[in-house]
Amino acid sequence: MAYIALEVDPALWFLLSPRRRRHRFTVEVPGTDTVGHVVRMVGIPPTEIGAVRLDGRVVDLGTRPTAASGADGDVPGPVLALGPRQRPQPTRQSPPRFLLDVHLRSLTRRLRLLGLDAAWEADAEDAHLVHRAAREERVLLTRDRGLLHRGALTEGALVRGERADGQLDDVLDRFDPPLAPWTRCLRCGAPLEEAGSEDVAEQLLPRTRQAYRAFSRCTGCGRAYWRGAHAGPLDAVVTRALAARRPPA
Ligand SMILES: [Zn+2]
Repeated sequence: MAYIALEVDPALWFLLSPRRRRHRFTVEVPGTDTVGHVVRMVGIPPTEIGAVRLDGRVVDLGTRPTAASGADGDVPGPVLALGPRQRPQPTRQSPPRFLLDVHLRSLTRRLRLLGLDAAWEADAEDAHLVHRAAREERVLLTRDRGLLHRGALTEGALVRGERADGQLDDVLDRFDPPLAPWTRCLRCGAPLEEAGSEDVAEQLLPRTRQAYRAFSRCTGCGRAYWRGAHAGPLDAVVTRALAARRPPA
């Protein structure tokens, strides 16, 4: 076996076991491992890694470090420094498109409310999610680290926060996507189009039909929307998201 010293940026310490949350620690690795293997071995999903430096030189996750052999700490081995993903994070598709795992339904709804393309499926296997994300060039959002360790994954992000509001803050801060509130269907995510009250009449109670003038309809599932249907908590989500926008660079 051989040894390699790791210096992990404190922003990533929450992903490490408590005993490794310090400036530098040494790990034992088989001599043939890539940087990506070492990163996975200490529990950090590759999606969360930004700059990688080996003895000060920028390398990628496929690089094979020459680890030092000998007893732990005896030999000055290579030093692998890991930084966090830059924010805002560039994505293949701009604006970014997302695919969320089954546990992030509330976050999906919030992203759609803000006009973002957010796909979600009730019963999707992990392999299916990874495959779909790659095929449709979507960023896979999950709280499940194991999902992000899958080799076939092209773009993903570990969502931070226990509750949907905190998760939304994290995703908006990480990707800084353009927002267009009230332009997508909350149920299926398709864009909305303007509609007259007669177009959506069968979905409206007579009172609603009389009280509102501006209606829209989902181009995917046909559901009718009108301002006022979303009052209260959803308005608060929009107001909060718009207020937290990054100032233009
Ligand atoms: Zn719809």
